[in-house]
Amino acid sequence: MSNSPITRALFDEVMVPSYAPAAIIPVRGEGSRLWDQDGREYIDFAGGIAVNVLGHAHPKLVAALTEQAHKLWHVSNMLANEPALDLARRLCELTFAQRVFFANSGAEANEAALKLARKFAFDHAGPEKREIISFTPSFHGRTLFTVSVGGHPKYTEGFGPLPPGITHVPFNDIAAFKHAISERTCAVILEPILGESGVISATPEFLREVREQCNQHQALLIFDEVQCGNGRTGHLYAYMGYGVTPDILTTAKGLGGGFPISAMLTTAAIAASLGAGSHGTTYGGNPLGCAVAGAALDLISDPELLAGVHHKHTVFMTGLRRINQQFGVFRELRGQGLLIGCELAEPWRERSRDFLKAALEEGLLVLVAGPDVIRLAPSLIIPDELIEQGLARLERAIAQTLSTAA
Ligand SMILES: *Cc1c(COP(=O)(O)O)cnc(C)c1O
Repeated sequence: MSNSPITRALFDEVMVPSYAPAAIIPVRGEGSRLWDQDGREYIDFAGGIAVNVLGHAHPKLVAALTEQAHKLWHVSNMLANEPALDLARRLCELTFAQRVFFANSGAEANEAALKLARKFAFDHAGPEKREIISFTPSFHGRTLFTVSVGGHPKYTEGFGPLPPGITHVPFNDIAAFKHAISERTCAVILEPILGESGVISATPEFLREVREQCNQHQALLIFDEVQCGNGRTGHLYAYMGYGVTPDILTTAKGLGGGFPISAMLTTAAIAASLGAGSHGTTYGGNPLGCAVAGAALDLISDPELLAGVHHKHTVFMTGLRRINQQFGVFRELRGQGLLIGCELAEPWRERSRDFLKAALEEGLLVLVAGPDVIRLAPSLIIPDELIEQGLARLERAIAQTLSTAA
């Protein structure tokens, strides 16, 4: 068995069935293209779920990784390391933050943020101030705490008992939020742009009001920028585009450009509540991840790259509108920068996965965000020609799906 070829069929024999991967297995990537085991080429509008902000095998990231790999991989947090300190320093220079905590995934960064918010309230106001407000729909990760905060029943059913002290309020609903917040609220967590839940932007009024109410009730405001951060919106972090600053910001996905790393950013005063020994992770801030993220940050914080994201947004939107004029499949085209949602029109609702499958057949990787939305989250430096080529494949995939359904 160990000598038999590695195929998609092997997945069902050896992997926990919590994923249902596509039939092909990619073996190589370069820029915004991938090749599978049979040498077939795919254009990548999925970016590994909004992770590969600089495409695949970017030479500067490969160089940073290999250089660090020859020096030092891991020392644990019993010792500091140069790449982590350098990355933290630059994140502080580039954002509101004064202190950084590194972890390995988005869920862990959110776990740290939520624990910190509880602890900060405990230190300053006492044990009664412990309620967390989050919004529906939303997604904050898959640990027990973060699925409970996310609130999607599909992700919590059967996993109880769930941690208590969490209230859910409809996203962008100012009146419902004002009704829910109280002196007992220690934190409010939100995605400035809902990623998994349909690519829906917070309205600027909503974010401003949430900020104002958090100030009035001494609750910490946490922005989950795991997906919308790291240049995705054409701003280094989405909060910068809104001009509303959180107390804690979490990010992951694009941070390492494909290497697993996440970060929680906050102020010195809030960070003080996580004293020595109060929280930790073995791998968080490891030299390899921080070296790669440092190289990625150099590139994605470049104003020219960020301006390119706005430009590429327009290229996508123009092409998607053209496709929609022909087929009328989209009810709405939305999103910011290179996080784009195409909401399906009435007869095609609930069918996003059919379009994803048809796109794969045409040599194009896309994402969905729920059953009604096709989501695109390509590399931030995808060349304009590849956008056009990929859109041509999407157009064929749509034509194909419509013709087989008719
Ligand atoms: C992906 C995602 C997470 C979870 O990140 P993991 O690395 O999968 O743990 C949390 N929040 C948002 C907004 C995400 O998009």
